Amino acid sequence: MPHIPSRFRRFRRPAFWLTLALLLGVGTASILGVGNLQSSNEAIEHSYQTLRLIEDVDRQLRTTEASARAYRLTGHEGFREQYLQSLPRIREATHALVDSTARTPRQHDGTLQLQALVEERVAEMQGLFVVQEREGLAAAQRATDPERTLSLSARIDALGRQLRSGEAAVLEVRQAASRRHTTWLVAFVVLGMLLSSTLLVALTTSLSRENKRARALEREAREAVRAMEASIVQRDRLSEQRHQLSRYSSLLQSCANRDEIMQLSATTLRQLVPGASGQCYVLRASNDFYESAATFGERVVSSGDLLVPDQCWALRRGQPHYVAGGQEGMHCGHIDADARHDGISCLCVPLSANGAAIGLLHVSAPASGDPDDNDATIVSTLAEQLGLALANIQLRETLRTQSLRDPLTGLFNRRYLQENLARELHRCERRQLPLSVLMLDVDRFKAFNDTHGHAAGDALLGHVGRIIAGAIRAEDMACRYGGEEFTIVMPETDAATAFERAETIRGALETATVLHLRQTLGPVTASIGVSTYPGDGTTPELLLQVADAWLYRAKAEGRNRTLPEPGTG
Ligand code: GH3
Ligand code: MG
Ligand code: MG
Repeated sequence: MPHIPSRFRRFRRPAFWLTLALLLGVGTASILGVGNLQSSNEAIEHSYQTLRLIEDVDRQLRTTEASARAYRLTGHEGFREQYLQSLPRIREATHALVDSTARTPRQHDGTLQLQALVEERVAEMQGLFVVQEREGLAAAQRATDPERTLSLSARIDALGRQLRSGEAAVLEVRQAASRRHTTWLVAFVVLGMLLSSTLLVALTTSLSRENKRARALEREAREAVRAMEASIVQRDRLSEQRHQLSRYSSLLQSCANRDEIMQLSATTLRQLVPGASGQCYVLRASNDFYESAATFGERVVSSGDLLVPDQCWALRRGQPHYVAGGQEGMHCGHIDADARHDGISCLCVPLSANGAAIGLLHVSAPASGDPDDNDATIVSTLAEQLGLALANIQLRETLRTQSLRDPLTGLFNRRYLQENLARELHRCERRQLPLSVLMLDVDRFKAFNDTHGHAAGDALLGHVGRIIAGAIRAEDMACRYGGEEFTIVMPETDAATAFERAETIRGALETATVLHLRQTLGPVTASIGVSTYPGDGTTPELLLQVADAWLYRAKAEGRNRTLPEPGTG
């Protein structure tokens, strides 16, 4: 994930403190504002209280005046009582009013004046009352001074109005102040909340972005660790594979034959690519088909036992052909088309030596899913060494065959006879069994050569070789002793049986012909001498000499015969 620089990041700390300060400010302002509002309300309430007290003074004064006047007019005891009861009330009301305005000097002065005027009015009423009590109703009426009373009442009323309007003005000022406080408080709180909310949202967004980035970085780090671990595992596996390959290479040098090479290759392939299976093909001597020489592993994908180069992309192109499991690709014709190939990787590698394909290695395995999978390369490397080793062993076998066999007849040569006759003789000696030696010479071969030519002579000799090879048992040993002379060693065979077999061979030669360059050659006759262990000798040399002597005798006696006949030797 790419690194996205957050411009807000460096402002985050100041923004946090600013948000905190704003929230604290809003909180404090709210508390203070509420306190302020409370005192404003108290002041307003106080103004209402003052207004009520002014009204109260007015009402008490009127009540007192009304009861005093009624008493003066009627002399009724009830009004007297009412008057006497209202006196202290008027005083209480004025006192309360004076106390109430103690904090507003202008109003206070007014209430003090009102108190003085009320006292003056009360004193006037009290004077008349005392006169009425002492001197009677008429005296009291006479003592009444309406002018003074009217003037006093007018002054009290005017002062009352003045106090009322004064208090109303104070009330208005207080209400306006209260409204202002409320407006400011609301504005401050709303603004503060809006600002802090915006900052909080920005902070949260920035933190969540940061968090997301941190998580992405963590994920990246985890993936990097995983990749590193995988690469370590891959490296270890690679080094193990290299080690196995180098061991394979060194063991390959010591393989004595093709079977050993195949066995070693199968074991190494199983170790290199666990779960793999496959087949190793070798080109037949006829150079037409590739024949399965070895299989390994539990077959994942089935491949035919015999294939022609056209069936395999690797053989056609002369290079490894790989179809990774789970991917589209051209599968070779020798692979079973009905087999499931999902998730199975198939690899064919030509086994080459000196640029010529002498075999094919086919390997299939469940796909590892690892893109760095090195298995195909490793198998190709193994195939390279396998191809060279196979070529080497084939060459060795060819050389060995050449050194032991006679190329013209395909029979063993004289060297092989000398090496093995002693061994066979020893074996029969140990087991107290007979062994016979036949010496066969084609009759008048020089004349045949002269008549038909040397090449025809060669063809005939090859034909004689094949007849001999076809007439003997698997344990017998037929060799070309030299020229047109053959030796056949027959272990565990007595003289009579040897004679019979010699006659069979001679009979076969006598009747068989061979076609050479549209010319029918033969049949030819042969003379055969037989010697048998232990009667004729106990050493190879002696046995060969005796057989040769009998051959010589057969020639001398007219050829086309086997000597000695049983019972005559
Ligand atoms: P005999 O019946 O007495 O054995 O007569 P022969 O002619 O077979 O005997 P001889 O030993 O005189 O001749 C053998 C001839 O075989 C001589 C030689 O030309 C021939 N010969 C030997 N080796 C080969 C070979 O490899 N190819 C061919 N074509 N001829 C061979
Ligand atoms: Mg001869
Ligand atoms: Mg001869």
